Amino acid sequence: MTKSTKEPRPSREEAEEAVRTLIRWAGDDPRREGLLATPSRVVRAYEEWFSGYDTDTSLILGTTFDETDGYDEMVALRNVRFESHCEHHMAPVIGRAHVAYLPRSRVVGISKLARMVEVFAKRLQIQERLTAQIADTINNMLEPRGVGVVVEATHHCMTTRGIHKTGVTMVTSRMLGDFRTKAATRREFLAHIGNPVTSEMS
Ligand SMILES: [Zn+2]
Repeated sequence: MTKSTKEPRPSREEAEEAVRTLIRWAGDDPRREGLLATPSRVVRAYEEWFSGYDTDTSLILGTTFDETDGYDEMVALRNVRFESHCEHHMAPVIGRAHVAYLPRSRVVGISKLARMVEVFAKRLQIQERLTAQIADTINNMLEPRGVGVVVEATHHCMTTRGIHKTGVTMVTSRMLGDFRTKAATRREFLAHIGNPVTSEMS
């Protein structure tokens, strides 16, 4: 995803006008008193929901490398809650990411891992890409012996419209290095996160 090919960002006024258009499309009147401030609220909400475009994730992990002092066991972070939006409907995707790696020589603070999940989530996403981006960034920045990422999420485009399936969770995973090649490593990770996903997933 390169920024250079994108059209210039619209003005705040243009964005608010687009919200008024959608309100009219929904069948309501944007001049109605209760809706007067809605376009500016929606545009401010978008700034929060899509704040991930302004942050370079490699900088998050790149700033602090610590030496491991010989620690070479698995580092696993469970239940990193995130809120994202699907790029097909711009509907909320609410989920949890489980992130683990086997350090080779570098480790990073867990808050930085959680922050990286948040930055990727605060963009228009598909769950498969979100999962891959988290795993690949850790792999590139820390050069560990392996990375495992499992993401579980509910997609509001599926629960509140379309086929209206509530309670359905989508699970995606990406296993790299030892997590891909060594069944014992993968099992340890899945046991850590207490997740019933099968070891065949990759
Ligand atoms: Zn969708």
